[in-house]
Amino acid sequence: MNEIVVLSGKGGTGKTSIAASLAMLAGHDAVIADCDVDAANMHLLLKPDFGTTVEFYSGELAVISQKQCIRCRKCEDICRFDAIAYIGRQIEVSPIDCEGCGYCEMVCPTRAITMEERKSGNVYISNTKAGNKMVHARLNIGAENSGKLVARVKSDAKLLAVAGSKSFIIIDGAPGIGCPVASSLAGANYVILVTEPSMSGLHDLKRICAVIRKFRIKAGCIINKWDLNEVKTSEIKQFLQQEQIEHLADIPYDVRFSRAMTQGKTIVEIQSPYRKILLRIWNNLKSQLST
Ligand code: SF4
Ligand code: SF4
Repeated sequence: MNEIVVLSGKGGTGKTSIAASLAMLAGHDAVIADCDVDAANMHLLLKPDFGTTVEFYSGELAVISQKQCIRCRKCEDICRFDAIAYIGRQIEVSPIDCEGCGYCEMVCPTRAITMEERKSGNVYISNTKAGNKMVHARLNIGAENSGKLVARVKSDAKLLAVAGSKSFIIIDGAPGIGCPVASSLAGANYVILVTEPSMSGLHDLKRICAVIRKFRIKAGCIINKWDLNEVKTSEIKQFLQQEQIEHLADIPYDVRFSRAMTQGKTIVEIQSPYRKILLRIWNNLKSQLST
């Protein structure tokens, strides 16, 4: 089984469209993992059925028993995150601000505070319109630990792939270079980078390549909207050559790309030359990874 991760370093490059298009081409031979849990939107293109929902818990939250609380306000003084406040004659914890450090529990003289597991979001296992299973998630507003949620999405996808004897896991990775990206990359066999020819596109490509180098994973790059800045496109190509990153394809700016997205379609479902380009990339990748 091979894991293919689609990454961009920055948002808005067309990463999810490319990942969803590969999911369409792979069909039942792949399990899909949407690891962009902070801003998941692959479901808009693959139309999963949200078949199974599992609650995801991560970290802790201070909970106050108003019956036991004597309003001494020691917890309010000790909380360095200003998560505790005296409101309407009650001591309250703000779930958004509480970091789950547990100091307040330690200083409470009446044991009115307990640390409870915090529900951070949901994980879904769905069937998609492409005929594959998809693991995706939604992080609650203000919830942290998206790296852990990414790891959970990936491990569920792996279990499904093994159980169904699938050849591939296609992962839509998180943007940026932080902890969720590292979680998306762990165990991957190939990374498809999607970039665009702009100053920030090249800057972020360099940053994500530095991360990939540490993981020693083979990578290829698609330059999206290449014709919007031909000078930057050639700088990107030079950089790819230096870094020995495969240049997979150039996709020109085309209004059909964004129109397909607004219709909830991938670019391999519309009349355009992109199906052929992505099919070539997918077939090359399959033969490369099978050897
Ligand atoms: S657990 Fe830590 S962050 Fe949360 S309310 Fe208590 S002291 Fe503040
Ligand atoms: S330390 Fe305990 S008793 Fe004192 S205000 Fe906080 S919760 Fe209430």
